[in-house]
Amino acid sequence: MCEVRQPALAARPGRRTALGFLGASIAAALTACSVSEPTAAAGPSASAAGRALPPALTAARAKSAAPEALRRPGSKRIRRSFIPDFKLPPVQHGLAPVLTKIETKHPVVFLTIDDGVTRTPEMVDLMTDYDYPASIFLARNFVQADPGFFKQFAAQGSMVENHTVSHDINMVTQMGYQHQLAEINGMQDYVQQQFGRRPALFRPPGGAYSPVMRQAAAAAGIKAIITWEAKASAGRMDYQYGNALRPGDIVLMHFRPEFAADLAAFRAAQQAAGLEVVLLEDFLGVA
Ligand SMILES: [Zn+2]
Repeated sequence: MCEVRQPALAARPGRRTALGFLGASIAAALTACSVSEPTAAAGPSASAAGRALPPALTAARAKSAAPEALRRPGSKRIRRSFIPDFKLPPVQHGLAPVLTKIETKHPVVFLTIDDGVTRTPEMVDLMTDYDYPASIFLARNFVQADPGFFKQFAAQGSMVENHTVSHDINMVTQMGYQHQLAEINGMQDYVQQQFGRRPALFRPPGGAYSPVMRQAAAAAGIKAIITWEAKASAGRMDYQYGNALRPGDIVLMHFRPEFAADLAAFRAAQQAAGLEVVLLEDFLGVA
């Protein structure tokens, strides 16, 4: 799979960003939630901790210019908020940008899970136990028999994105613009109808993309095409570069029978690398 780096990624080496976070002691005082594994999140709408603070905490807050701690609905822990140091490139010349990894200094990693063919309660339990948010790229024809299953992930902090209607891996070579647009738009409509949000991200079936696909994605309202830098499959990690996860990596997984083993492999790699699992949509500001 070819890899397209967006020019904007490399254009901001001097941009120093603050990893703003609420002190763990304050966070602990605000709720009984564990803060042992804080995960970053961003977005002005997700504030959870800023209201009706006792005076002492208000004073402590006032001393800090940091954004507030966040807690997603259904999440067991407070997520550390921060200012992302990566700006999503805009659609240019009608082409949606393609992201294989995120250029960031923050110790974060992004989990993405595709398709939706296999569905077991264990998958929901594991994601809930680990409190991992993931971008979930679903294909309508794989999931339309049971969209309710994926609503559990939405409630757990994950977000549903677009992986086409029919999951035709020859889409990029055998479909014209209008057909590709219909594949993407059809899934936009389905996700909107089932999950109440129009996807911002698109993953091509099989991962291959083209200028025509980038055009169709942009026309459907997609903000970025997301490929991957590493994947968890057959119970182990595969890396396109090196042999460990790095900050900003986008990791591919699937809803497959070996989900537990794949997620365990990812978790081991994530913890070994000292990275936090962050929702890609939060980081890109497209949640
Ligand atoms: Zn797929």
